[in-house]
Amino acid sequence: MTEPNKPRVLVIANQKGGVGKTTTAINLGTALAAVGEPTLIIDIDPQGNASTGLGIGRNERDLSIYDVLMGQASVAEAIQPTRIPKLSILPATVDLSGAELELIGAEGRNYRLKDALDEYSAHGQSQFKYALIDCPPSLTLLTVNAMAAADAVIVPLQCEFFALEGLSQLLNTIELVRNGLNPVLEIQGIVLTMFDKRNKLSDQVAADVREHMGDKVYDTVIPRNVRISEAPSHGLPALVYDLKCPGSQAYIKLAGEMIQRERSRAAEAAE
Ligand code: ADP
Ligand code: MG
Repeated sequence: MTEPNKPRVLVIANQKGGVGKTTTAINLGTALAAVGEPTLIIDIDPQGNASTGLGIGRNERDLSIYDVLMGQASVAEAIQPTRIPKLSILPATVDLSGAELELIGAEGRNYRLKDALDEYSAHGQSQFKYALIDCPPSLTLLTVNAMAAADAVIVPLQCEFFALEGLSQLLNTIELVRNGLNPVLEIQGIVLTMFDKRNKLSDQVAADVREHMGDKVYDTVIPRNVRISEAPSHGLPALVYDLKCPGSQAYIKLAGEMIQRERSRAAEAAE
């Protein structure tokens, strides 16, 4: 059971770059906020794309996830609001690329984010229902910190030739984390992204993934949609930039499916 002031923490992970992690974090977060669920996006990628995509300029990131991991700031101090009501962000800066080296040999290095989030919740400061962590394209210390802090993983998967191969590597990592750092970590779901219905390979890969992963795969598929790729340069989620476009509509559906899964899980846990 989740304690009243503890957000449900979902980590958006895939060690491949360009598969839609950041896009999913931003738009799923926006959709959750839009249905009234206060949501925090935690940007733990040194590229800071989630921060930029939500309109937080580089000079507006005085305190960031780097300061939190280094124990120089609390989560409460580093969080800031976005232009979207009920959506906040803990931004990232390029400093973060040095964090890995700086934390070598540091005590509890894998639990830096978890400890900071626990402290935030313990003081009753969290007003968030969900926290979505946007990971870098690697399975190193930053992603491990995210997985150690999370309740569940959401995996964006692009429908391309090596998708399943990459997925099994990710599943191994999740298993390692479950066996050591975080036994409660589960897979919330796998979301097929940038789906191109004109491409036969897209269909084939989607079918393969569904065959291997069964109902772990969300019914909602995110189509390839140019409006989605235009939105970040305006510092806006696609959902705000063009609510009616097929990509935005798909993310709204995905949020519905995600909430439904969360409710079933909570009901099962309460039994
Ligand atoms: P990641 O965070 O996994 O590296 P991004 O979310 O940044 O991936 O997506 C990679 C690129 O693809 C970005 O330029 C993004 O705008 C674009 N993109 C993501 N999803 C879609 C989509 N459904 N349709 C079109 N472009 C997309
Ligand atoms: Mg990204």
